[in-house]
Amino acid sequence: MSTFANGEDSTRPHSPPIWLSSVYQCATPDQANELLAGTTAGYVYSRDGHPNSTRLANLCNKLHAAPRGVVTNSGMSALALALISQCRAGEHVLLSDQLYGCTAKLYINEASRWGLLCTVVNSLDPAAVAAAWTPSTRLLLVETITNPLLRVNDLPVLAELCHQRGGLLLVDNTLAGPLNCRPLDWGADLVVESLTKLMNGHSDVLLGYLGGTAAVWDRVPSALSTWGWTAPPFECWLAERGLATLRLRWQAATRNAHAVAAALENDNRIARVHFPGLGNHADAAIVQKLFTRAGMAHPHDPTTSLIPTGTLVAFDLRGGWDLASRFITAVAGGIPFCPSLGELQTTLSHPASTSHRGLSPAERARLGITDGTIRLSVGTEEPEWILEQLRGALGQLGG
Ligand SMILES: *Cc1c(COP(=O)(O)O)cnc(C)c1O
Repeated sequence: MSTFANGEDSTRPHSPPIWLSSVYQCATPDQANELLAGTTAGYVYSRDGHPNSTRLANLCNKLHAAPRGVVTNSGMSALALALISQCRAGEHVLLSDQLYGCTAKLYINEASRWGLLCTVVNSLDPAAVAAAWTPSTRLLLVETITNPLLRVNDLPVLAELCHQRGGLLLVDNTLAGPLNCRPLDWGADLVVESLTKLMNGHSDVLLGYLGGTAAVWDRVPSALSTWGWTAPPFECWLAERGLATLRLRWQAATRNAHAVAAALENDNRIARVHFPGLGNHADAAIVQKLFTRAGMAHPHDPTTSLIPTGTLVAFDLRGGWDLASRFITAVAGGIPFCPSLGELQTTLSHPASTSHRGLSPAERARLGITDGTIRLSVGTEEPEWILEQLRGALGQLGG
């Protein structure tokens, strides 16, 4: 009783509080000085960090086995933080030709105004990366699994290539996620996740994560605060709650993605299925090497032999824009058209009208994206239900 009278609690909340305070009280000028210098641990101003961002960053660091890491207010600001902290005007970066559209814009349209030089390369061909390297090249940016055709980059080969030339490898791991692949284990210097997607999983938060090695970390904390990319407490709290079920959601969605890909592969109404878990996938050998089965393994899990390859499946309808439009309308009652990914529920996207509308039809064709390409983000429902929705909609297309 007396503890409550003193304003102290005798028990601790099981669920973490949300620390909404923008500022923290300091006891003395000496303490403030030490806190701000970083010689004493603690919080002063929440743009520099707060308990909810620290908690979430620690959880992400653990998932990625990352020596250092911060959370940011979006996946894009995590990518911007990597760029701002590592590169300066006059330096050169190599960009994979299969990057998230906004990432390509960040480097090519924005950073180039500040004197950064960019070259786009086919990172699936390490020889092309080596040939494009210049003495001022600072880093290579690739995605573990690309969108929407789900090609897989050979991270250890690319990391070695960068390091031999004194450069860095930055990997956007959003489509794979840390239970599938930990890029730092494969030699990457920096890893980004859009926590908005699979990591949070509930479509109610925009957040990002940047993890890295100690060697590249010097400028990161200060750049995060000065550019103002700190993640807000409530969003961090929601994402921490989302992360609590990451393994369960990911296991269910991973198994479902395999089931959906296998079923569509055997459906003659589909022209082509793009899924890294199929034996005939162009990067099947890299998948075998890169993706860990550890997250799936459970003594009672009958699918422990399955190699997880992310939760996305893309497929090409036998037709173009009109057929895709009819399919999307027909399936909408069960599987909504949401141009994002990693949700609890199965969603779909149409790259030609959303993520890849900025490319010319010729550029899309070169990558292998047709107007009839549909990209599913497979969720956690019963696999039979997902297949019923897809088959029902395909059945309505006729012919
Ligand atoms: C969504 C996404 C991003 C951007 O993340 P936001 O949280 O939307 O800012 C970056 N890379 C990939 C691969 C993404 O899917």
